[in-house]
Amino acid sequence: MPEPKNPKASVENLKDFLNSKTFNLHIKWLNKRQYAEIDFEKKTLTINIYFLLVECLVHEYLHHINPDWREGKIEVATDSFVNKMRVHEIKEIGTFILKAGEWKI
Ligand SMILES: [Zn+2]
Repeated sequence: MPEPKNPKASVENLKDFLNSKTFNLHIKWLNKRQYAEIDFEKKTLTINIYFLLVECLVHEYLHHINPDWREGKIEVATDSFVNKMRVHEIKEIGTFILKAGEWKI
């Protein structure tokens, strides 16, 4: 069944979209600026899990070492920290999180 042209954004429709396999879901490195991308021609949806994980870790680490900083300052410092990281460092730490993280889903 073809998808409606402008389906309502809902969790149920999101699950239908995922199950429809309209796009091949890829979990892989993209770059330091993109969390994800969708390619309509190649029918791929890519999620840059390494970047997402490392950014989250850095954010919480900065809370840990600077407990008196407000959220806005943490966000700015997180961006600055991650921007200075080298790609291989992001991949290394992202891979570590994936392997060592205690998964409770
Ligand atoms: Zn925060």
